Amino acid sequence: MASYDVIIIGSGPGGYVCAIRCAQLGLKTACVEGRETLGGTCLNVGCIPSKALLHATHMLHEAEHNFAKMGLKGKSPSVDWGDMQSYKADTIGQNTKGIEFLFKKNKIDWLKGWGTIPEAGKVKVGDEVHEAKNIVIATGSDVATLPGVEIDEDVVVSSTGALSLKKIPKKMVVIGAGVIGLEMGSVYSRLGSEVTVVEYLDTITPGMDGEVQKGFQKILKKQGMEFILGAAVQGVEVKNGKAKVAYKLKKDDSEATLDADTVLVATGRRPYTDGLGLEKLGVSMSKRGQVETDGHWKTSVDGVYAIGDCIAGPMLAHKAEDEGMAVAEVLAGKHGHVNYDVIPGVIYTHPEVANVGKTEEQLKEAGTPYKVGKFSFMGNGRAKANFAGEGFVKILAHKETDRILGAHIIGPMAGDLIHEICVAMEFGAAAEDLALTCHAHPTYSEAVREAALACGDGPIHS
Ligand code: FAD
Repeated sequence: MASYDVIIIGSGPGGYVCAIRCAQLGLKTACVEGRETLGGTCLNVGCIPSKALLHATHMLHEAEHNFAKMGLKGKSPSVDWGDMQSYKADTIGQNTKGIEFLFKKNKIDWLKGWGTIPEAGKVKVGDEVHEAKNIVIATGSDVATLPGVEIDEDVVVSSTGALSLKKIPKKMVVIGAGVIGLEMGSVYSRLGSEVTVVEYLDTITPGMDGEVQKGFQKILKKQGMEFILGAAVQGVEVKNGKAKVAYKLKKDDSEATLDADTVLVATGRRPYTDGLGLEKLGVSMSKRGQVETDGHWKTSVDGVYAIGDCIAGPMLAHKAEDEGMAVAEVLAGKHGHVNYDVIPGVIYTHPEVANVGKTEEQLKEAGTPYKVGKFSFMGNGRAKANFAGEGFVKILAHKETDRILGAHIIGPMAGDLIHEICVAMEFGAAAEDLALTCHAHPTYSEAVREAALACGDGPIHS
């Protein structure tokens, strides 16, 4: 039996970042992980592999659609699905080994196996019980299932199965128009699959700014993806390796079916705390299965903390990482803080979609006086040169104070551009602060400045 200052259960972006920061702050740290490799959902079956496939298929799209326009003539590359899978696997391997290296460098013990908490201050892994002054639950999330739909990871797959399909399907139905469904739908659409997205709500990307939802759907449709919105999936029947998806339209109760070679169920994720023994331990849980925590990520049991996808808040890797760092600071007797008002969200399609802060709908509902500064990438020289003129930057600022309240971008590198606005928001900046900052030319970032100018006297290039 070993004794630690902190044992973290789960090595996803929440857990591994927490472990590294704890060790850096001088705490004797161990991290329990049941998977064969470190890095959690994000590195193994989430952010990283999906971005590898998005990158590879974006390159294919560029070759097929834009190379010849720039005088780069010749046959477009053909797809070797096996090699693309190997590239994805290599990318995962480099990242998970990187975490292993960082654990060694920071003298963090990896306790291999599935952990349980028999009592506060103790973590059991296999037959061994380890002692810990504090325990951090960072066990993440798992795929949420849909009634009437059985995931077999062959014909009917979760995001995990969709990352490693045996072959590229001719027809794919994606259930759920959220981030994961649209990213994976994009991958297969670029690889030549006919992709139809079925969504229960009347818009794609629920919760996003309305203008972005509409603009983004138009762009995806132009790229070849089909959408059936306001449709409740009734069930999926699999016969001879093919699927039939039955759905009912909410507007008139009419029923229809779609044939598919592959059905991706992307209706969300659920907090994963199975087998930890939390009920017996007396840890309070929400109705949605999340571990309940206070403002310092402490659960209802002393010495037991929780972070990441298994607690409330957006299920995002960077939110989990921030909580991991913050809780480490708390455990080391410092002040940990996460600003939940400034957590960006990104969809890594092409163009990318990014947002931070309030949507126009939220501001209207709250009765906050606001103004909108908008700038189209068509007015951005760099974007035009790179065939990336689709989309816009939209900044929402307080009508009286000019303070930035939110930003929404569809466009090239939106996931990177958004951070300029995040930093501005962290500093409580006004739109004018961005507008008065010199931006290098020619960059996509100029579109952010122009949107900020549009909150005041107006942009230059529109
Ligand atoms: P996880 O990453 O889920 O890690 C939890 C770990 O705990 C797992 O490795 C699990 O094996 C381990 N574990 C669980 N129980 C035990 C136990 N009892 N004992 C030992 N180990 C245990 N987010 C983004 O921000 N950007 C993206 O681009 C993005 N893309 C995604 C794409 C896909 C396809 C998916 C599925 C998710 C994506 N996400 C993305 C979400 C992101 O992966 C999660 O928000 C993030 O991984 C949550 O981190 P976490 O540390 O809370 O948990």
